[in-house]
Amino acid sequence: MELVVISSLVLGILLLNRPVTLLFQRLYTRHQFKKFIARETFYHSVVSRYLKYYNRLNLEEQRKFLFRTWLFQHSRNFHYIEVEAAAEMPILVSAVAVQLTFGLEKFKLSYFDDIFILRDDYHYGFYSRPFMGHVDQTGIYLSWDNFIKGISGQTPNCNVGLHEMGHALTYVNFITHTEEDRHFKSEFTNFSKVARPIFTSMQTGAKNLLGDYAATNYHEFWAVSVELFFENPVQFRHELPELYEAMARVLNQDPLNFTTGSTTIIRRMDSSPSATKTSAAG
Ligand SMILES: [Zn+2]
Repeated sequence: MELVVISSLVLGILLLNRPVTLLFQRLYTRHQFKKFIARETFYHSVVSRYLKYYNRLNLEEQRKFLFRTWLFQHSRNFHYIEVEAAAEMPILVSAVAVQLTFGLEKFKLSYFDDIFILRDDYHYGFYSRPFMGHVDQTGIYLSWDNFIKGISGQTPNCNVGLHEMGHALTYVNFITHTEEDRHFKSEFTNFSKVARPIFTSMQTGAKNLLGDYAATNYHEFWAVSVELFFENPVQFRHELPELYEAMARVLNQDPLNFTTGSTTIIRRMDSSPSATKTSAAG
């Protein structure tokens, strides 16, 4: 009799586990949305000042973008190293992550509880070159002066925020498996069918828009492709049309497909990785 009761209890817990989790998630999201709404104007003022990407979204997408930014920011710890913390810092860093994953369902890059913001170029490990940012098992690291230059267009083709978030996205999908996006994972195989031959040709000397640093290894090839996809999409599509199309598919968005009031999401399909270091060259 006892066995029957215990078995029933275990079965009940197993059956109810997912619905209960979903219920808690829904309650949490609703609670966070109420808090977000009270701060939406401020978030809009910060993000719209820097992100051209955001300014091209319609109103509904802008709210989705800002709420994702809020959720991303409030699900991790920001640390400031030799730089004075400012309210805009975690918002803008979160917004850049949201830009990269805006076409995907999973956007929190869950694994990276900690994000470190440093003042400027820094030295890391045994590398002699200074770093602008890197990703490793302890967190995401970004130098603030380079980050700001990247998002305000002062450094053409270079956006260290997008670059490191690119590493973080493959890290959570392929290394830690902590936040796998079904679309991204399945489409990445198709991306590589196009990307690998281009990467291989670059390793044997071929030159293109991505630059020499992208030939360092496949992780850097991916992260640099992310930067160029958003920072210079016209030239990217012109020079490397198949790779551009593969990027648009794997990220499920197309920066050249913006028209006023239209969605950036090009398709919804239901369906290595991050280097532990990243060069200062981005
Ligand atoms: Zn890198």
